[in-house]
Amino acid sequence: LDIGSLPTACTGRPDLRALLFPAESNRWLTHGEIAERSAGTASWLRANGLRPGARVLLCGHNSAALVLAYFAVLRAGATVVLANPAYTSEELAHLVTDSQAEWAFAAHPATERIAGLGLQLVPLDEPLPEAALDRVTDDEHELALLAYTSGTTGTPKGVPLTHGNLLASIRAAMQAWRWREDDVLVHSLPLSHQHGLGGVHATLLAGSSAVILPDFDPARLTEAMRAHGATVLFAVPAIYERLVDDAPEALATPTLRLAVSGSAPLSPALADRLAQVMGVPPLERYGSTESGLDVSNVIDGPRIPGTVGLPLPGVELRIADESGDDAPEGEILLRGPQVFTGYWNRPEATREAFHPGGWFRTGDLGRLDPDTGYLRITGRKKELIITGGLNVYPREVELALERHPRIAEAAVAGLPSPRWGEQVTAWVVPTGPVDSDDLRAHCRKLLAAYKCPKQVFVVDSLPRNSMGKLRRSALEPPERQAR
Ligand code: ATP
Repeated sequence: LDIGSLPTACTGRPDLRALLFPAESNRWLTHGEIAERSAGTASWLRANGLRPGARVLLCGHNSAALVLAYFAVLRAGATVVLANPAYTSEELAHLVTDSQAEWAFAAHPATERIAGLGLQLVPLDEPLPEAALDRVTDDEHELALLAYTSGTTGTPKGVPLTHGNLLASIRAAMQAWRWREDDVLVHSLPLSHQHGLGGVHATLLAGSSAVILPDFDPARLTEAMRAHGATVLFAVPAIYERLVDDAPEALATPTLRLAVSGSAPLSPALADRLAQVMGVPPLERYGSTESGLDVSNVIDGPRIPGTVGLPLPGVELRIADESGDDAPEGEILLRGPQVFTGYWNRPEATREAFHPGGWFRTGDLGRLDPDTGYLRITGRKKELIITGGLNVYPREVELALERHPRIAEAAVAGLPSPRWGEQVTAWVVPTGPVDSDDLRAHCRKLLAAYKCPKQVFVVDSLPRNSMGKLRRSALEPPERQAR
């Protein structure tokens, strides 16, 4: 089985409901229809000269056409280059040049942004071209996807993922989460990112169904959950935060059995509030573009807020120091069939990303809970602040700030300082009046003095990317933001 043939996983029951895109139609795409139409477009692509192994940019908001094009490219034996439709012309040009893509499927308004890049362009806003199935499709090529890291810490790097990598990821998660044929997934995450796309893979593989929204709107998301009897919800902490603030009653969907959170840390306070309003505790999991889905809280056992749980079936995990030796606290290393083998055309970055034995260096820091073995993520190597020669991990300071009763969210970064090299600085979103002396005193009770923020800025919201991840590099003093 490969990812391209997922639409045919339910042959024999072609009329089974698969995907609904309520923003464009109230008609379900069936498993059979996805299989047939994606094969038709794959045949058209081959008839029009798409070579197996060629790269095809896929750039559009969540839509039925996007999913059909995705499977068509894979079934034609080509590799999908996933592009975030919010990317600027410059970012898209980087992806096209770096991946040497030859074709693109794109939706308005991204179409205009890639128009001058010399690609064979197929619009996603018009009915997709199809051809009779006279060409052999399902001509599998090893590389399914060229995904790009979200670039929160530098220029996006191409991450080649094989059919095997993607299947290993989704199968492990489905086993751990007991994915069932009668599950109804609802989400509004971009399909241009692994988190959202994984939901489509699971749905087709299990013969279950999913309702996919084009973007996040609290009312529309909770309405879709209720109307379609959602059993599974995929979201990121920034979405959960808005849902508990704006639509807490609507979150209580009686059918919901599993609310997955990932892509960014879920604060224990938010996890508690969610458990109260949803009736089920959220289930936090951890993964990355490079390593797929790797670690998850367990479905039957205890879910421990502030931890991401246990390695998924088939995943090996250890904590190591800089030289790769086991350590109680340090970098999280991963190995397993879901992990990629190296960046696209970046031998230097690839060398740096692995320790001997094929252990992927995630760049995330963590430790294992001594009693349960659950993984606790304590920070990210690249986000380390060095202040007065001492190391401070922003996540630790953020967690301390978020324990203050009037702080909804906090972000911490180092700002240049002549005295300290970098100065620990906090940006906080309060739920009521706060004063910085009180916040400093609060931090001082929980943290060593050198870790406490020297300056605290009160803001209305934190800068986040389309996956709700904090853009730490965009944290600036208010006077600079005003410019
Ligand atoms: P770039 O590598 O370009 O900076 P990125 O790392 O944000 O981008 P992704 O691969 O999308 O790109 O994100 C993976 C990262 O997200 C992980 O390495 C980890 O830091 C973070 N992450 C994912 N899930 C969780 C979680 N449950 N808790 C904390 N962090 C998480």
